[in-house]
This record gives sequence, structure tokens and C-alpha cells, in this order.
Amino acid sequence: MTDLLPDETRKWQALEQIIRREAAKFHFEEIRTPVLEPTELIVRGLGQLTDIVSKEIFAFQRGDTNYVLRPEMTAPVARSYVEHRLDQRGGTQKLYYIGPMFRAERPQKGRQRQFHQFGLEVIGSADPIADIEVISFMVHIYQTIGIRNTRLRINSVGDLQSREAYKKTLKAYLKPHLPSMSELSRTRFEKNPMRILDSKEPEDQPVIEQAPLIGDSLSESSREHFNMVKKLLDDLGIDFEEDPYLVRGMDYYTETAFELISPDLGAQDALAGGGRYDLLIEEIGGEPTPAVGFAAGMERLLIACDELGIELDPGKSLDLYIVTMGGSAREWAVPVLQQVRGMGLSATMDYQGRSLKAQMKDANRAAANYTLIVGDHELARNRFTFRDMGASEEESLSLDEILERMQKLIGEGRTQDKA
Ligand code: AMP
Repeated sequence: MTDLLPDETRKWQALEQIIRREAAKFHFEEIRTPVLEPTELIVRGLGQLTDIVSKEIFAFQRGDTNYVLRPEMTAPVARSYVEHRLDQRGGTQKLYYIGPMFRAERPQKGRQRQFHQFGLEVIGSADPIADIEVISFMVHIYQTIGIRNTRLRINSVGDLQSREAYKKTLKAYLKPHLPSMSELSRTRFEKNPMRILDSKEPEDQPVIEQAPLIGDSLSESSREHFNMVKKLLDDLGIDFEEDPYLVRGMDYYTETAFELISPDLGAQDALAGGGRYDLLIEEIGGEPTPAVGFAAGMERLLIACDELGIELDPGKSLDLYIVTMGGSAREWAVPVLQQVRGMGLSATMDYQGRSLKAQMKDANRAAANYTLIVGDHELARNRFTFRDMGASEEESLSLDEILERMQKLIGEGRTQDKA
């Protein structure tokens, strides 16, 4: 788990601003849910046999309730949708989120125990257009930021009927190979054979390579759904590769599955992933409700930016630093700060009674555009040194003249408000 220090939070804020702005363009509304969820929800929502639930959740008990730190947002958003009857708001719910998630994984570059995701959940539509809006938002965010070297992989895992048919075929194929396969795959065989296709164990690979594919077991309507998704991706000019091995193991995942990867990321190359989960809401106690969503890792997005030399940090900026010499000047400065801030500008001063030199250094460090220098002499004459830090020019002006100048700056958009 890492601290995000002040020199890093600027790029996080910039990224969040982009996500919020683009989500608004797609007409998504934000949802915020608690960081803690009942263990039961996460186990049902993700599935007992997933890596996350079996190995990676941070869990604890308080009274009679078992809690986990949320490892992802789809199950929490689905819970919230059911609990608050969001269906009654009418129409399809188009939700986005940004926030921290927790998984007790082995940390490495691009993999933390507390990390951040943003994502969408579209709840209440089975239409392929919903899949497409989700995928195109995901792709659009990376494009907007300038991360262009990405690969979109898609697959269909079919509806319940397709999956049941496929599971039978797959099990019949796997059964004779089981003795030579990994222990993990053997434990998955009965309850969740599709997850075996996800296995990274070397001894499983030859068997997986020859395995029958879900694509061959798709029902008519699943095939139609998938074809429409692909057609619409073509219409939008979004490149994709079909990856028949891309599966979402649990039974609640249906139809479209997708993943966005970046060759610039090294071992942890998944930027984002998602898919349809038409059976999840019913699984956690709601009415049958089709839904689709994706989640993206924010640390990995920022690593990709670093690799590609994309600078999201707009840099520090401050409109006015009031440099004070002596007690009276310091007292004078306090209401002036308030006045300047009231005009919509940013302003600060020294809180330690440091030397003129130290305060000028501080103003430089803060990237102040202007400084106002005040001491007893200036107070007596009501003339202050107003210094343009960029141009290294200064003038002697009254406070009113200085405020007038600053007002003009706002008009010209030359203040930190410009962002
Ligand atoms: P998932 O919910 O596992 O599909 O993950 C969605 C995205 O979240 C991944 O593509 C990663 O970008 C990111 N992600 C998942 N786990 C971690 C982690 N432990 N550390 C950093 N990013 C992660």
C-alpha cells in the first residue's frame, strides 16, 4: 500500500478530472459505496473459487458480521442497486465510480494491495449497445490521455444455456487429461471447469491449447449478440482481436468479455477489463437484471503514462505570495489573503516569520506568479512591491492598484483558474 504524496496527487487529480469530464459526456452518474462490504456479498458476487475470494481478500469480523475490504466494485454497485431499488429511478442506470480497492496479492510493479480503479456499470439493459458504450468509454479514456498503443481483446462466454452446453463438452475433453494437470485445475474441474482455461500453470498449457472453445457452443441468441458487438466496434473504428480463451469463470458472467492490454506495461499488462453479468443481480437477491461494466486500474494507467512520457501533472501554481517583514505586515496580510481569495485567486503567505530571502525561495518553490512584498515602510506609505515572478519585474503600487491588476488577470484567464 502506498502513500500518494503532494507531488503525485496533482496527476491523480488531473486523471480523475478527465474521467469525470468524459463520464459526464457519456451521461454516466457517479456512485460511491463504503469501502467495507459483508464478506457474504463478495463471496457470492465474485465466486468462492476465484483467486480474489480464495486468497486475496482482507477480511475481519466485528460482532456477528464478517467484513471485507472491497476488492472490486461490481458486486458493491450491484448490492447498492438492489438495496436502494435503483430500478425505480427508471430506465437504465448508468453509473461510474472511482476509488480504492484492496487485494492481498504479492506486490510488484503495477500490483499493489491497495490500488485504485475507475469503471462503469450499466444496469438494466441487455442491448449490445450497452456493451458498446462501456467498451468505447474504456477505449476513449486511454485515447484521450494519449495512450494509443493498446490492444482490445474480446470474446463471448455465451448465455446460461451456451455455458451449460460448453461446460459439458469441456469436461468430457478434460477428464482424461486430469491426472497430468495442476492441482489447482483439478480442484476447479467439478465446480468451475471454465476457469481452467485461465490457468497459468505450465503443465496445463498443452491441454488448454487443444481444448474445445466456447465459441463453438454459443446459442443462436448469444451468437447474434456477439456479432452485433463486433459490428458496432467496426462501425466505431475500434480495433479488436478475438481471444477465444478470454473467459470470466463464474456463472454470473454472460455474453461479452473483454480486456484492454498495453504492451508498454511489462508483466502486469492488463489496463482494464470487463464484461456482461446478466445473472449477478439475481444471484445477490435482486430481480433478474441484465448488466455490463468494466474496471480499469489507475496505477497502471499512470505507469503507462510514465513509460510514454505523457505528463498529466499540470505543475504547481499559485497566483500570489505575500512576503511579509515584521509583525504589523504579517497582521496586515491576513485579511488581504482573504480578499484575494474572495476574487477567485489563490494566495498564501509565510507562517513562520522567516527572512525575506527564505520567503522569496518559498514563493519560487510554490511557483507563485506574483509576490506582494510588505514591511513597515510599505505600510506607512500604502505602496507595496508587486513583483511579476516570471518576468522578474517589479513595481511600487497601492493595494487597490494591485487588486485591480489581479482582477484583470482573471479577465485574461492568466490565473491558475485556467485549468
Ligand atoms: P479486475 O477487477 O481483476 O478485472 O481488474 C481490473 C483492472 O484493475 C486490471 O486490469 C488492473 O489494471 C487493475 N488491477 C487489478 N488488480 C490490481 C492490483 N492488485 N494492483 C493494481 N492494479 C490492479
